[in-house]
Amino acid sequence: MAVIVGLLTSQLALLLTTLYLHRALAHRALVLKPGTAFVFRALIWLSTGIKPREWAAVHRRHHAYTDVPGDPHSPVLEGYWKVQLWNVGLYKKAARDPETLRKYSRDIKVDAWDKALFDRGWLGLLIGLVVLWATLGWQMALVAAGTHVVSYLLLNAAVNAIGHKWGRRPYPGLATNNQWLAALTWGEGLHSNHHAAPTSARFALASGQLDHGWWVLQLARKLHLLSVRHDEVHLTALAQGGQVYADQEQDPELV
Ligand SMILES: [Zn+2]
Ligand SMILES: [Zn+2]
Repeated sequence: MAVIVGLLTSQLALLLTTLYLHRALAHRALVLKPGTAFVFRALIWLSTGIKPREWAAVHRRHHAYTDVPGDPHSPVLEGYWKVQLWNVGLYKKAARDPETLRKYSRDIKVDAWDKALFDRGWLGLLIGLVVLWATLGWQMALVAAGTHVVSYLLLNAAVNAIGHKWGRRPYPGLATNNQWLAALTWGEGLHSNHHAAPTSARFALASGQLDHGWWVLQLARKLHLLSVRHDEVHLTALAQGGQVYADQEQDPELV
């Protein structure tokens, strides 16, 4: 039971990671209603303690220097096992670099909520643990929290490690598609697709590819919780190779 709660918590955190941190903030493929953004931000804080502007900056640097020196977490540069098992350390190192933040997350401002609450990642995690404790009792809460932490860290790391090492490469570059990883990460395993069209809110680019994060987005769109800026991907241009933007408005700094 505690393990199932832990796995469900990590799936919720992975869904928020792909929708909020990745597709909405880092690539601006979605526009969230203010209430939606606040709920996503609070839930990311409680389940991961991540500071969104740091995540967006580190991720944008990954797109700017994919698998070349400057990439914060490339298995080509660091080796597969280091990224798979120590992604969090590589992430922290990049997130502490003021130059990375200055260059890649200028558009994400620090506000009063950050100063009061959300910049204290440890506090979010502590409150999250207390919620589990109050619901499940302390022994079950510790097992659930431990399962969540291990599952969340390993699956996020797998997108960076396996997603640049093994799998199909339908588009130029070293990023790969793995359906099984996409199934566990709400579509993030379609990483070759994502690097080919980074500003697309939709990661599945061919029939039979699984991006259930996109299905959740469609539902949220119907409920007027958000709107999608970029989802039309120019497959002909993609097939010719090179990076493709979902439309011409894209600011290259956000890619
Ligand atoms: Zn990548
Ligand atoms: Zn990305």
